[in-house]
Amino acid sequence: MDLVEYQGKQYFGRYGLPVPPGEIANTVAEAEAAAERLGYPVVVKAQVQVGGRGKAGGVKLAGSRAEVTEHAGNILGLSIKGHVVRRLWIEKATDIAKEYYASFTLDRSAKLHLAMVSARGGVDIEQVVEEDPDAIARLHVNPLDGLTLEAVRDLVERARLDPQAREAAAEILLKLYDCYIEGDADLVEINPLVLTTDGQVRVLDAKVTLDDDAAFRHPEWAEIDDLSDSSERERLAKSKGLSYIPLDGSVGIIANGAGLAMSTVDMVNQVGGSAANFLDVGGGADADVMANALEVINLDPSVRAILVNIFGGIVRCDDVARGIVNALEKVDIASQIVLRLDGTNAAEAHKIIAERASEKIINERTMLSAARRAVELAGASRSQGGSEL
Ligand code: GDP
Ligand code: MN
Repeated sequence: MDLVEYQGKQYFGRYGLPVPPGEIANTVAEAEAAAERLGYPVVVKAQVQVGGRGKAGGVKLAGSRAEVTEHAGNILGLSIKGHVVRRLWIEKATDIAKEYYASFTLDRSAKLHLAMVSARGGVDIEQVVEEDPDAIARLHVNPLDGLTLEAVRDLVERARLDPQAREAAAEILLKLYDCYIEGDADLVEINPLVLTTDGQVRVLDAKVTLDDDAAFRHPEWAEIDDLSDSSERERLAKSKGLSYIPLDGSVGIIANGAGLAMSTVDMVNQVGGSAANFLDVGGGADADVMANALEVINLDPSVRAILVNIFGGIVRCDDVARGIVNALEKVDIASQIVLRLDGTNAAEAHKIIAERASEKIINERTMLSAARRAVELAGASRSQGGSEL
């Protein structure tokens, strides 16, 4: 789960990291009221799950109520890389002398945690990696050993942070590591970590990705999830244990296995259509799983046809076929469903489907023919929809 900036800062705050005071605002009036309470100048910040908000006009300094009104009005509703801003974070402004970068993440190939610190913060770190890789100091941390003050002192020195910032930055890194480990994050990133004009070190931006597999240890995460900008479909899918990613096409896709789901998306594109989602039902494709998957896709108003692509290995196609038939009794599905069932017990599955075949369920033998049929149906029902207007 990715947190937006203010959620990340609240998470950091629990571990004692120095984040500036701020308040959430969903409207211009709330932004004005928050700024009055915080005192000027404030920063008006778009809360969306993408970086580069500053460059896109989503981060603005405001020195007066009138400026808050103007910036909040401009930023609310702004689309940043496809994410529409619905919420603002109003923060007490900081006087910046220097901008640094600091992060912890998992280096899977080294099987160790990786700390990265740079005196070149505030800009896109990928850009720094390309232009000036030596500007980033790295430290691998063995989780069994943990992190020591000596090690982080050495790290900030190698990163060439200004001498007066080093001790505070080292302490911040120790807390950030605790937050990363105890908080079960996959990534914690501060960009920028700043040195203020009066010599303090402060966290000005936060990017936090929590490890979903650790959710059972964190009942408090449920609250964060409720506030995130994910849709009803995404939340339903997650609660049902499905791996679901919304896309912007019109063919809903259900497949078993991430590889097959991805090839199905590609196949739909190849025959001239576009996928409305990626949905991997994983190893189990019984009646309940199929009903859940169909229910999630059914909530998407842009879906015009559903393509179910199952390759039976351990999963038996006849079970899947019965699952779909049962699912259709449980859920009232708006779109037609094209099926391609192949692999273990496919012949039996085809028999089951043939008995129940209707204009709702269409059986196809190959992935290509199924994709063509689904795309055709999605196109046909779209033009039908159009002629009703
Ligand atoms: P991002 O563009 O999405 O990474 O958003 P950031 O939160 O990192 O803000 C972008 C930039 O805005 C920072 O790198 C700073 O230069 C600037 N900025 C953010 N907060 C403040 C602040 O309190 N005071 C000042 N002067 N600049 C700020
Ligand atoms: Mn940033």
